[in-house]
Amino acid sequence: MSRTHAIRGRTDHVVVVGAGLAGLSAALHLAGRGRAVTVVERHPWPGGRAGRLDVDGYRIDTGPTVLTMPDVIDAVFAAVGETRSGRLDLQPVEPAYHASFADGSHIDVHSDQQQMTAAVEEFAGHEQAAGYRRLRDWLTRLYRIEFDGFIAANFDSPLSLLTPQLARLAAIGGFRKWDTMVKRYITDPRLRRVFTFQSLYAGVAPQDALAAYAVIAYMDTIAGVYFPRGGMRALPDALAAAASDAGVQFCYGSTATGLERAGQRITGVNTDQGQRIDCDAVVLTTELPQTYALLGRTPRRLRALRPSPSAVVVHVGCRRVSPATGHHTILFGAAWQQTFTDIVRDGRLMSDPSLLVTRPTASDPGLAPAGRDLLYLLAPAPNLATGKVDWARDGATYADSIVEAVRERLLPDVRDDAEVLEVVTPEDWKRQGMVAGTPFALAHTFGQTGPFRPANTVRGIENAVLAGSSTVPGVGVPTALISGRLAADRITGIVGSSIRHLDLKARSA
Ligand SMILES: Cc1cc2nc3c(=O)[nH]c(=O)nc-3n(C[C@H](O)[C@H](O)[C@H](O)COP(=O)(O)OP(=O)(O)OC[C@H]3O[C@@H](n4cnc5c(N)ncnc54)[C@H](O)[C@@H]3O)c2cc1C
Repeated sequence: MSRTHAIRGRTDHVVVVGAGLAGLSAALHLAGRGRAVTVVERHPWPGGRAGRLDVDGYRIDTGPTVLTMPDVIDAVFAAVGETRSGRLDLQPVEPAYHASFADGSHIDVHSDQQQMTAAVEEFAGHEQAAGYRRLRDWLTRLYRIEFDGFIAANFDSPLSLLTPQLARLAAIGGFRKWDTMVKRYITDPRLRRVFTFQSLYAGVAPQDALAAYAVIAYMDTIAGVYFPRGGMRALPDALAAAASDAGVQFCYGSTATGLERAGQRITGVNTDQGQRIDCDAVVLTTELPQTYALLGRTPRRLRALRPSPSAVVVHVGCRRVSPATGHHTILFGAAWQQTFTDIVRDGRLMSDPSLLVTRPTASDPGLAPAGRDLLYLLAPAPNLATGKVDWARDGATYADSIVEAVRERLLPDVRDDAEVLEVVTPEDWKRQGMVAGTPFALAHTFGQTGPFRPANTVRGIENAVLAGSSTVPGVGVPTALISGRLAADRITGIVGSSIRHLDLKARSA
């Protein structure tokens, strides 16, 4: 059964605004279905939020670092009959994470069931290890139910949610709270964090987030974490290269400034370079306010939408640290629960920071000059809608305090010759056009999920479709890629077995 209502009329030439992951995915799917595609991108390169910055021989990834669900990437290459091999060298990151707690204890998070069961047993005993195995089964069932029916599906109205899968999702607790469900399996509070902290990615505290979002914990603790040789930028570069080879035209360094309309159809895209690109349909991957400005409308609902919390990211170059330091480390502060109250409710800095420390040079030493390491320190922070932080005044001091916390709690060998290469605060995200200074778009509250999230179709305009993190399914690398495919489905209708390109071999055992 298809729940995708496709647009009417000609769709021979499609203009995609934005060469982020959603735009690239849309372009590849459309090209694979015989459409002529032009991508307009304001930056000189693809990737969008999966951004890049080169400083003194360091090749910095400025956006996502935790790459999951390679099957979703494969499905995008498959859209033009390609495979990943030869385009993108993805290596598993093992362990996926190293989790380090304020009491000095730590555990490596493995995606392999046996290794992880053994790690949990050593960390918290036999009962917790048995609980972990049951949690793993539950997360896997959750993923199987959700993927086709919810994450990778278009909704024409909230009523289209009423499917047998909904009943199945409800039956396994998908509409309860994430933390409540994980507690059923694991009682050790430290270990519980390992399977609930991902709610931060959804922009909601684990006690408030729908258990359905625990599927993110499936993605990174079970399906595994990967890293591309050459850094995260290798992913958009590879997708853009495949798109070019499939005939997609790219206009880099061109900002879409307006859309031309005839009645209910968009007929062309104007750019700041003086181009007018004719089109039969358009895919907009811009942030919602820009999207609606381009479309010439201000929906009332926009003001009521809730943005996700934001983040401060500090990029550091330093002398090589201990080789035992893994690719991803999560440093949990003692007051982990308070973190959400601080940044989501009270709009202030974390009183006791919990940090994601990424060392991409653990997987690819070529990303830093010889003998040096590159560190990416991410501190969750309030967005500018709730936040009361003066970033211009306090941003640099806060960045220093993050480096100091990492030095104290994880990397004593980061000495004084460490260089802060770049600091990105919510004000910087805002300058890049992101609503409320958050790079994580709209929070995944119940009212901003699935059919309740801003839809990828536009009422009153027949041939404009949205993609990207503000629409369905939501924020993240796999989801942005899926949103590009959902946009293509809106334009062409579901073609052949596009969903089934995915090998849904959920790894429960
Ligand atoms: C710091 C950070 C950490 C993250 N961590 C993770 C993580 O670990 N794992 C994960 O899965 N996800 C993570 N994410 C989220 C993930 O990166 C995003 O959800 C995803 O990349 C969004 O892709 P997109 O295509 O929707 O949007 P974008 O990447 O924003 O793409 C939109 C594109 O449109 C272009 N554009 C905008 N306006 C115009 C215009 N008028 N004309 C032409 N072009 C225009 C922009 O330049 C951009 O290239 C992170 C993001 C950030 C920023």
